[in-house]
Amino acid sequence: MTPPVTWPAYLGLSGKELRARAEALRELASPCRLCPRECHVRRTEGERGSCQAGLRPWVSSFGPHFGEERVLVGRGGSGTIFFTSCNLHCVFCQNYEISQLREGREIPVEELAAWMLHLQEIGCHNINFVTPTHQAPQIVEALALAREEGLKLPIVWNCGGYESVKALRLLDGIVDIYMPDFKYGDSQVAARFSEAPGYFEVARAALKEMHRQVGDLEIRDGIAQRGLLIRHLVLPEGLAGTEKVLRFIAEELSRETFVNIMAQYYPTYKAWQYPELARRITPEEYREALEIARRLGLSRAGPH
Ligand code: SF4
Repeated sequence: MTPPVTWPAYLGLSGKELRARAEALRELASPCRLCPRECHVRRTEGERGSCQAGLRPWVSSFGPHFGEERVLVGRGGSGTIFFTSCNLHCVFCQNYEISQLREGREIPVEELAAWMLHLQEIGCHNINFVTPTHQAPQIVEALALAREEGLKLPIVWNCGGYESVKALRLLDGIVDIYMPDFKYGDSQVAARFSEAPGYFEVARAALKEMHRQVGDLEIRDGIAQRGLLIRHLVLPEGLAGTEKVLRFIAEELSRETFVNIMAQYYPTYKAWQYPELARRITPEEYREALEIARRLGLSRAGPH
């Protein structure tokens, strides 16, 4: 990991460099290889792939969020911006109105930049892009504008873990905190519940790249500054492959990795069509997940 000379990291890049990154991401979107689905649609020519995204910000809402991890929320809240649609299509998505029913509207990049500045003005601790992967070019373009207008909050990349390493490399020096889900330890399970071929292998490579860029999570005065924060949602019947996921984190990333092991799964959206997903997890299942983390020596894994 190359230590940043500035914090947040993007303050160390020139406006020209930020715009060049946005342009490189735009090139990755035509034909589209922004995420591992590789739809190869020409988004610059108006074609739309599996996520249906174009090249303007497509957003649902924004505001200070107090329900995120404590290290993101602090006193002022996490400045969340919810992006419409997603590349994963999980049958149990807890956010399906936005990700799959695609509630939201397209806005100019200038408006997205203004949202970021507003979140800063009202005292949020960070800008938290929720489900940003498929809209990376327009997000970086807006960030370049916001930075010119005085944005200086750290950037949180709050994503599904199904990321292209090529796209992630273009975010090196822009993102301060990567917050991916690590959803499954088995790609066949992933194929059944999400449209994400090879999820386990893809997520492993993506998380390694994220960790290479930002390292373990650094926290100052209770607030996350920079690093990797992984979310793992425990599913019923061991479907999340918790042992494999946590073993990878412990053995191939770092035992100091900050992992939020989440218990809040509930059946929603299409989960009712799958008997094994049609219930909440039991306290025993959750305790077992925590025990696995303890056994593997993951000292910063738990409910956060
Ligand atoms: S970002 Fe969207 S269009 Fe591009 S490869 Fe992924 S799902 Fe397909």
